[in-house]
Amino acid sequence: MTQHTPILIVGAGQAGAMAAAALRSLGYGGRIVMAGGERHAPYERPPLSKSVLADVEQDGKIGVHPPSFYADQDIELRLGACVTALDATRHVAQLADGSAIGYDACLLATGGNARVLPALPPGTPHVHYLRSLDDAARLRHAMQRAGELVVIGGGFLGLETASTAAGMGLKVTLIESAERLLGRALPPELGTWLADRGRAQGVTLHLGCSIEVCGTSGDGVHLQLAGGAVLRAPLVVVAIGLSPEVTLAAGAGLALHPQNGGIQVDERCRTSAPDIHAAGDCCSQYQPLFGTEMRLESWQSANEQARIAAASMLGVDAGPTALPWFWTDQFGCNVQMLGAAHPDIRYDWRGFAAHADATPKFMLLGTCHGRLRHAIAVNAGGDLRQLRSLVGHDVSAHLARLCDDTLPLRQVVRERQPEADRSITL
Ligand SMILES: Cc1cc2nc3c(=O)[nH]c(=O)nc-3n(C[C@H](O)[C@H](O)[C@H](O)COP(=O)(O)OP(=O)(O)OC[C@H]3O[C@@H](n4cnc5c(N)ncnc54)[C@H](O)[C@@H]3O)c2cc1C
Repeated sequence: MTQHTPILIVGAGQAGAMAAAALRSLGYGGRIVMAGGERHAPYERPPLSKSVLADVEQDGKIGVHPPSFYADQDIELRLGACVTALDATRHVAQLADGSAIGYDACLLATGGNARVLPALPPGTPHVHYLRSLDDAARLRHAMQRAGELVVIGGGFLGLETASTAAGMGLKVTLIESAERLLGRALPPELGTWLADRGRAQGVTLHLGCSIEVCGTSGDGVHLQLAGGAVLRAPLVVVAIGLSPEVTLAAGAGLALHPQNGGIQVDERCRTSAPDIHAAGDCCSQYQPLFGTEMRLESWQSANEQARIAAASMLGVDAGPTALPWFWTDQFGCNVQMLGAAHPDIRYDWRGFAAHADATPKFMLLGTCHGRLRHAIAVNAGGDLRQLRSLVGHDVSAHLARLCDDTLPLRQVVRERQPEADRSITL
């Protein structure tokens, strides 16, 4: 690489900031320019629906790196700098201010945007979407003034928002078009358990319920549900998923996944264009554990893909890929999971807790043809770590003991695990 032409990172979010750090820790001494469309230095998004939504004091505490990191590491952080076009042949990026940056290698870490409900687009009075720190600050301000909130969407983001709002004393109603919560991510038994827990904490749930008509008036939003019920709310949050931000990639002619819309990358996070990598929520990658290409919208996946992309840009080996891991905090439960749900998985419980328990603790172990594919821990993250080495392996002979919560998990895992397969990492 030439001395002055930088590695350009487009997107100053989780993946961008972690990739910049990885480039330096791998010994890259050349220029790194990171262009971010937001005015904030890279920050972590998970707290936006949790602590940040409830407490203004948290706003300044969520940086991916300490504020001095970028100067200390000689990373040129350009904030409020939106890249508007990418010429993949000439290796040049255009910025909204009219300037251009030539690059040796480029990482697209452009994340995604909240999916829009056409009837209630962003900007509609009383209606909020939650993706950025500015969104969270606006929503918090509105929540502190409204006594009531309607959340549209019963995915992780909708549930976390509902949980935080209920904790702040708001009367919360959540509308979900599917018959159960988190249907694609969690087994039905846990979706139902979380629904009961949410109800016990005062959240009204409308499941299997579509919105037929919506409108706004001076004092709020009215929603007419299928079946005729009408809800009126001074405040509505729409949380119906994410669209990957692929405008630059599409404009540059990069291959996109035909179904999930993400930028297609290989196992080293290389896109279809030479010298352009992609990482994080914007990209779609083959996941060996699930046998399919998918977008993993998670903090851990953004970090992992950033690490792999940085190594690939420098032509060094990234080492083994970590298992997909995700967490959510809602209704007093820290839910962590390794692997992911699949329709063919069968779940067994390790322990059980009533939904009204003050400190529930249990696990669900999901196996497919005897192999552990999905392990979920409710307030039992330490136990989940014990299972890491078993994911992807046949546990059929040991499942009964793994599910016996009178036995220490560490001991059962050691018994099960022959030396030979400790090294297998999916
Ligand atoms: C409210 C909320 C709660 C979450 N909670 C959890 C959780 O509990 N657990 C979990 O695992 N994950 C959670 N996530 C998901 C996790 O935060 C994301 O998966 C992660 O932030 C993805 O990182 P990223 O770098 O791909 O995208 P982002 O962090 O979104 O960063 C992308 C950045 O690129 C910028 N950008 C886009 N286009 C351009 C352009 N053309 N020019 C310049 N800049 C551009 C954007 O402005 C943005 O700042 C949550 C997400 C949200 C929004």
